[in-house]
Amino acid sequence: MKNKNIYDVIVIGSGISGLNVANTLSKDKKVLVICKENSWDCNTFYAQGGIAVPVDESDIESHIQDTINAGAGLCDKKAVRVLCEDGLRTVRDLIDRGCPFDRDESGQILYTKEAAHSRNRIIHSGGDATGREVHKFLMSENTSQLLYNSTVTDLLIEDDICHGVRVWHNGELRNYYAKAVVIASGGVGSIYEYHTNSKTISGELQGICLEKGLELRDMQMMQFHPTVFIHSLGARKQLLTEALRGEGAHIVGKDGERFLFNYDDRGELSPRSLVSRAIFEYKKKYGGEVYLDLSMFDKEFFKKRFPTIYFNLKDLGYNLPEDRVPISPAFHYAMGGIKTDLDAKVPKMKNLYAVGEVANTRVHGANRLASNSLLEGLVFSKRAVKSIESEKFDFLVKEFDVKEESLVKSGDKEIKNELRTLMWDSAGIIRSRKKLEDTLIKIDSYLDTDIGKFLRLRLKTSRNIVKSTIFQKESLGACYIID
Ligand SMILES: Cc1cc2nc3c(=O)[nH]c(=O)nc-3n(C[C@H](O)[C@H](O)[C@H](O)COP(=O)(O)OP(=O)(O)OC[C@H]3O[C@@H](n4cnc5c(N)ncnc54)[C@H](O)[C@@H]3O)c2cc1C
Repeated sequence: MKNKNIYDVIVIGSGISGLNVANTLSKDKKVLVICKENSWDCNTFYAQGGIAVPVDESDIESHIQDTINAGAGLCDKKAVRVLCEDGLRTVRDLIDRGCPFDRDESGQILYTKEAAHSRNRIIHSGGDATGREVHKFLMSENTSQLLYNSTVTDLLIEDDICHGVRVWHNGELRNYYAKAVVIASGGVGSIYEYHTNSKTISGELQGICLEKGLELRDMQMMQFHPTVFIHSLGARKQLLTEALRGEGAHIVGKDGERFLFNYDDRGELSPRSLVSRAIFEYKKKYGGEVYLDLSMFDKEFFKKRFPTIYFNLKDLGYNLPEDRVPISPAFHYAMGGIKTDLDAKVPKMKNLYAVGEVANTRVHGANRLASNSLLEGLVFSKRAVKSIESEKFDFLVKEFDVKEESLVKSGDKEIKNELRTLMWDSAGIIRSRKKLEDTLIKIDSYLDTDIGKFLRLRLKTSRNIVKSTIFQKESLGACYIID
């Protein structure tokens, strides 16, 4: 093929998973990284708490056990072993490459604790700006071509080969071709009314995979973060990292009562799903706000350890750590995603990979252990690279017509907003089968109307979440069904 838009590897997404694929591929490979908007507009950039990693070899078994315990019986034990064993090596490699993590005065890496970890094993950077610092570092390492402001509208698949991607770039359609394609496009945040995710994360690639007959798995497993400040304007809500509770913050009702102990002996350090449900139920029962009480922190320590939260909340009129912050659970993370094997390969396909939040390796099972997702991105991006480097890909790349159906139509925005409310109400923290059945009917009716492709892809991903929840026989992990 003579087309100039031909690469060895195309990577969809510029978060930790996509950039780490690009940065660890051998330098003789011609690589294209595609992202919507700016490279930093991704969930990776907003990650606060840190990266969970075994402290040393002796901590691997305990990290595995904590991950499996959080996963509520749905984890693939082999995948979890890969996560923790490879994780230690991969994070050491990242540190050796020069990624800056916070250290004490003697130069030792600092480890903090988050819920459901049996010991301190979360490394962090810039206090509570881990994602931003890691992203900055990966961007500084990157030598691949980056295509900004570009939305992938289709995978160019014929039989079991993905020949490339179709992209909507600044009002123009283009096809890009490659020997291997890696999907690293993140989760589904924007299909929920309240969420902590970047606005670029809206589940289109999951929808495209469904249309191509590729399997999504565990899509009922959606995680809600318990401590989010949802009163700000804008779709993305301000997260208050779990590390705050790990280091002593309390969740209290309006009279200061630490009501979480009525739900679980671990109180603030109970698993995320439990804390989210407790807050949701408490608010419903007693009305009014639930707060994060930070008053036990020394002001100077707080400013240094949690600068992002300190300054973001200051802009919103809060004086931390003195003021209590009203909190609510919000959608945070998709455990479900494109089914892959342990080399990040999509089954039935010769040259298609998925890594990071968009993928489902079952490392998280029914509930992700805090700070295991950045680790997953690092580990499985490296495994994808190893697999790509070892394959021959001895097929001829085929050229496709550059044409696409209408991507957006006039009534789409209204339906998109209705969908977000429907998903929050029916496929949220506490779900009922009746509401899920009603939502399914509604989604099917939207799919029958004259809509653009982007909305259709969102609807298909949402439909898959709803259907998977209906198929789920009983509550498990983050998927809580009341009837
Ligand atoms: C506020 C917040 C705090 C978090 N804190 C932590 C933490 O402390 N520790 C932890 O382990 N995890 C944390 N997480 C989760 C973690 O950040 C994510 O799971 C992880 O960063 C996902 O990385 P990724 O590379 O898979 O995807 P992302 O970083 O989300 O990147 C996705 C990329 O795909 C691109 N993309 C999407 N759709 C398309 C398309 N159609 N066409 C082209 N490009 C597309 C986007 O533009 C973006 O570049 C947090 C998440 C949030 C939102």
